[in-house]
Parts: sequence; C-alpha cells; structure tokens
Amino acid sequence: MIPLRVSDLKQFVYCPRVVFYNYVMPVEKVSTFKMEYGKVAEDKIDRLESRRKLLKYGLTHGGREFHKQLYSESLGLSGKMDLLIKTTDTYYPVDFKFTTSQPHKNHLYQLLGYAIILEDLYNCNVAKGFVYLVPKEDAVVFDLTDESKKEAGTMLNEIRYIISSQQIPPAVPSRNKCTDCEYRNFCGDVF
Ligand code: SF4
Repeated sequence: MIPLRVSDLKQFVYCPRVVFYNYVMPVEKVSTFKMEYGKVAEDKIDRLESRRKLLKYGLTHGGREFHKQLYSESLGLSGKMDLLIKTTDTYYPVDFKFTTSQPHKNHLYQLLGYAIILEDLYNCNVAKGFVYLVPKEDAVVFDLTDESKKEAGTMLNEIRYIISSQQIPPAVPSRNKCTDCEYRNFCGDVF
C-alpha cells in the first residue's frame, strides 16, 4: 500500500493536482505568505494554547498533547496533529489555522484523516474535531460523521490511483484557489 499523510487529504480536496505534484512530479513550491506566517506563529501558539481553557472547545476536562504524531499501518496513513485533546471517553483532533476566514471543506477532511487513524489505533469513536482560528481565538467545531469518514477513505484510494497511474488530474475549476496556490508556476494550462 502506498503510504500517505493526512495532509494529502487536505490537499486533494483543495485540488487533486497538488497531490500529483507532491508525489509524481515533485517541483519547487512557491512559499506563500500564509505558509511563512504559520511557521513563525507556531511556537507562540503552543505557549498560548497551553494556558487556554478547554471551555474554548466546549469541554470541561481533558489532557492536551501538542504535535502528536500518529501512524496507522492498516490504513497506510500518518499525520501530525497540532493538538490532540484526550478526555475519559474519546479524542478530539485540533488543527490551528492562522487566518480569520472560516475553515473550508479541505480542513474538515484533514480532521477526518486524523479521526480515522485515532479510531483505528485506539478503537474509539471520534465524533468531533476542531479548527482553531488563531487570530480570532475561536474554535470551530466539525461533526465527523461515519459517512464522511467513509468518503475520506474513498479519497485515499483516489490519491493512490493518481500516484500509481501517474496521470495529472484536471485543474481545479475555481481560479481563486489557483491564485493562492504554491504550485501556480507549474500549471501552464491555468495561467
Ligand atoms: S494552480 Fe490551480 S490547478 Fe494548479 S495545482 Fe494549484 S489549484 Fe490546482
């Protein structure tokens, strides 16, 4: 099985072509403002988050683990969460986001990727996850349904197909995404 990362799901939902560039035809990426800001902000966030109350997540108790690395052999999937919250009966994956805009579908699928690994490793049901909007200090909750977890599994198969077939997928229809894309220099049919 081709080993994949949870971030592949996020990128596949953003644009399947990104997966192709990452695995089949690796190219040098253009560093975007968001990426640079994210790197600088990460250390500060950890320090602030450790003092933050779990009530921000609607929780009254739980342990926190930063930058939790996980790997499921049976799924062939690995990922590193910004934060994992563990309560007595379940787990909550948390992804930090460094913009004020609301999270998109690709962020949901990243959380789903973490959820299916956690469920596989710890035999539990991970029903919710959070995207924490750092500048707004606001936690956005996502329901992680069984149906959407299955869909994430289907996407992993599609990603493996792109890699094994080595066929470049069509460009994403939304040109707004392309403007903000780290691979924009390589999509000659778009620009
Ligand atoms: S520039 Fe557009 S089509 Fe090309 S990889 Fe980025 S989002 Fe996809």
